[in-house]
Amino acid sequence: MHGRADRSHLPRLGPTIFAVTDCLFCAIVAGEIPATLVVETDRVLAFRDINPQAPIHVVVISKTHYPDVAALAAADDALLGELLRQAHYAATAEGIGTSGYRVVFNTGAHAGQEVPHVHAHLLGGRSLTWPPG
Ligand code: AMP
Ligand code: ZN
Repeated sequence: MHGRADRSHLPRLGPTIFAVTDCLFCAIVAGEIPATLVVETDRVLAFRDINPQAPIHVVVISKTHYPDVAALAAADDALLGELLRQAHYAATAEGIGTSGYRVVFNTGAHAGQEVPHVHAHLLGGRSLTWPPG
């Protein structure tokens, strides 16, 4: 994981620029980029998505950097389990624990993964269509 190295020389223009030069979600874990936290444990962080696709849209990440869910599953299945448990906890905290929600891991180019740090999207607060686009 990245430390608290000085990143003041880096552009703070958003995820695209940061993803090229550094890891956006590691910077959120380090407190270098603000986020609206929903859940925090020793190993997992959940925060509101900056560009919500549903009334409730939370991003749930491992604090340790893995590029995607496949890498996390291969390295630490207990951590993957905790991430999913905290996704449900976040759903409950956001008031959609019983109405229902969707958990999505975009993985790779065809899924449109933009941030190469494993994250689950927690989506809810309305009826979600299926199949997804
Ligand atoms: P993905 O396309 O699956 O990699 O998802 C990345 C998600 O991160 C997108 O839904 C973005 O809206 C979200 N995102 C990007 N930057 C931030 C940020 N600074 N705070 C919260 N969410 C962000
Ligand atoms: Zn990272």
